[in-house]
Amino acid sequence: MKRQNLKKQLDGKWVVLLIVFVVIGCSSASQTWLEGKPRHHVKDGFRNHPEIPEVPPTKPFFYLRRFYTSFILPDVPSDHVISENLAIAQFNELQEKDSITWLGQSTFLIRLDGLTILTDPYLTTYASSVWGLGPKRFAPPGISLENLPPIEVIVLSHNHLDHLDSETVASIKNKDRIQVYVPLGLKSFFTKRGYQHVDELDWYDQKRKDSLTFTSLPTVHHSGRSLGDKNKTLWCSWNISSVSQKIYFVGDSGYSPTIFKEIGEKMGPVDLALLTIGAYDTRQGDPMTHLYPEAAVKVGLDLNAETIVGMHWGTIQLSDEPPFEPPVRFKAAADKAGYSEDNTWIFKIGETRALPERDILGIAANQ
Ligand SMILES: [Zn+2]
Ligand SMILES: [Zn+2]
Repeated sequence: MKRQNLKKQLDGKWVVLLIVFVVIGCSSASQTWLEGKPRHHVKDGFRNHPEIPEVPPTKPFFYLRRFYTSFILPDVPSDHVISENLAIAQFNELQEKDSITWLGQSTFLIRLDGLTILTDPYLTTYASSVWGLGPKRFAPPGISLENLPPIEVIVLSHNHLDHLDSETVASIKNKDRIQVYVPLGLKSFFTKRGYQHVDELDWYDQKRKDSLTFTSLPTVHHSGRSLGDKNKTLWCSWNISSVSQKIYFVGDSGYSPTIFKEIGEKMGPVDLALLTIGAYDTRQGDPMTHLYPEAAVKVGLDLNAETIVGMHWGTIQLSDEPPFEPPVRFKAAADKAGYSEDNTWIFKIGETRALPERDILGIAANQ
């Protein structure tokens, strides 16, 4: 009886999944440049610029084959996630310093000059708009939604489901006091959920909040979270600067031989670069969606980053590589490129690390 019910449930989900991917595959923004606007603006959305080689869209079969990630989770090493008590204690202990906490995937708490910044909010179970279907989180976020510390700023890179989670956004407390910075087209996502201070930024736009400067920067990616909205909202990376620290957050990105060098020239050198290192193996080679770990290190070099941090791994399964392979490849590539172990950071989920204290010229105190 139970087996019959499960079968019925699964049959229903297959039908939903098929419809979703057939429709998603059919609709996207046109690629024609909108004259008079920046080159990444097109008639009803956005595109990558400088242009990168177009790769065929991921085939529906890829997603269908990966249907199992809704139900079957990988074995997780016991030290991959720290206990919530320890995570909260570490965060509190470093309250007075600049620090960074990883909550899985691309979600960080960044403490800079006394403000707490939350990046790409995704703290729930499924990276999906259909509950019970889609990639299921295999490691908890370290600090749960209910126990999140007060947030002053939310910074968003794009609207993919593993970066912008509706339930997480809706559940955060004190929305009236939070400043939200989003790429073009995503303001209403937050205002509909009760946020009052939301600014949309185009690439290279800047906003200031107290002593911090937030700069939206290009990245190589795409957007879309539901039927027919491919590339209708913008994607971006971020530079977050205080007087003494520069933190670069890549969002999601493929590699570009020009974009990151240009960012490095304009904004660099950066102290800490948070780089996507997972979700690269789609079995058809898709360098425009996610960085291979080796390419992430190359981005660090392009930005002239002092310390590189691997993110977007060890949380959900979006692609075919073994889920704990990305940090191994990342560390090996970093070592080869001349980064020391002290300057190649792989966090446990929930872990907080203090940023090196720097003087006004950005020079670390211990150097
Ligand atoms: Zn994405
Ligand atoms: Zn992602």
